[in-house]
This record gives sequence, C-alpha cells and structure tokens, in this order.
Amino acid sequence: MIDEKGILFILSGPSGVGKGTVRKRLFEKATDLQYSISMTTRDRRPGEEDGVDYFYKSKEEFEQLIEENELLEYAKYVNNYYGTPRKYVEETLAKGYDVFLEIEVQGAMQVKKNFPEGVFIFLFPPSLEELKNRILGRGTESNDLVLNRLKEARKEIEMMDAYDYVVVNDQVDHAVSKIESIIQSEHLKRERI
Ligand code: 5GP
Repeated sequence: MIDEKGILFILSGPSGVGKGTVRKRLFEKATDLQYSISMTTRDRRPGEEDGVDYFYKSKEEFEQLIEENELLEYAKYVNNYYGTPRKYVEETLAKGYDVFLEIEVQGAMQVKKNFPEGVFIFLFPPSLEELKNRILGRGTESNDLVLNRLKEARKEIEMMDAYDYVVVNDQVDHAVSKIESIIQSEHLKRERI
C-alpha cells in the first residue's frame, strides 16, 4: 500500500558494520523502496559505477552543490564529502514512495533535524573486534585510512541512542528481515481506519 506521502528510512551506523551489504541485499527484495544514490568526492572503488553506487563529483562540484542548497545533508568523512540530493528525496516522498538512505552518522543527525518523522535505524556490529576485522578485511585502503575509519566507528557508536531502532548485524539475512519488519510496522503505524 502506498501512503499519501512516503516514509523516509535512514540506515546508519559505523563504517565497516556492513550497511552497504545489508542495503544491497534489502534492495534485491524490497521493490517498493526507492534508494537515494548519494554524491561523493571519494575515488571510485573497483566494480563501482557512476550513477549506480554514487554520483562521483569533484570537490569543486560538491562545494557548489552545498552552496546551492542542493543537499539534504552532507558530511566530510575521512577527507571526502558525502551527501544526499535534496530534490530527489523530497520529490520521491511527495509522490508517495518510501525513500531509503544509507549514510554515516553525522549526516543522519542532520536529517533528523529536518525530517524528525523519518525512521532512523542504527546498524550495530556484533562486536567491536568483529568491526575491526571487517574494516581491515576490506583491504582496499591504506593503513592510515583504516585507522581513521576505526576511530570514526568508535565515535559513531556513541550516537546510537538518538535512533528509533538498533539492528545487530550478526548475519546479513537476519538484519535484512528485521529491517523489512520495521518497514512493515512503520506502515501499519501510519494507517488510519
Ligand atoms: P564508503 O566510502 O565506504 O562508500 O562510505 C563511507 C561512509 O559514507 C559510509 O558510512 C556510508 O554509509 C556513508 N555515506 C554514503 N553516502 C552518504 C551520504 O550521502 N551522506 C552521508 N552523510 N554519508 C554517506
């Protein structure tokens, strides 16, 4: 069922917790959700595509978007900008579709200011040790970057209380089905007789 206005879901949590993997698995199944593709200034990783994984921008292009108020939120994360296109989100919600963001914690907190009615989901690592292994295991980044990501992750976990739901990512399928249940129940909450 499509409500009058869509619901904004925000999946966040520390780097390396598996947000990207969970989001991709969710989107293999959840056909009614619209994923908001973010803008970033970071380099493309092998296998990533412009307009699919991100819209890749130069620093100058990104700063122009900030200036023109084109971003719903943005954050500088490990020396790169990441941001959510405002128009896409607002227009898609207005059409009655749910929109799904997968973003880091500083950005999620900005969204909370503008969209307090959004549904904020924090993906939690099974343990800090496991998180460290996942960040190390990605193997695509220099030691400095890995250390920065770990430092960020510890700070991000402190923000957990501001969220509506906490989902432990012990197994991707479990996390995905919990998120599906959250989506269903948020729709039920908003239904009126
Ligand atoms: P990665 O470089 O690994 O793709 O992403 C780094 C971090 O940036 C991840 O935590 C990811 O969720 C977050 N991220 C991706 N898109 C956005 C966005 O539009 N805004 C914000 N604030 N964070 C984002």
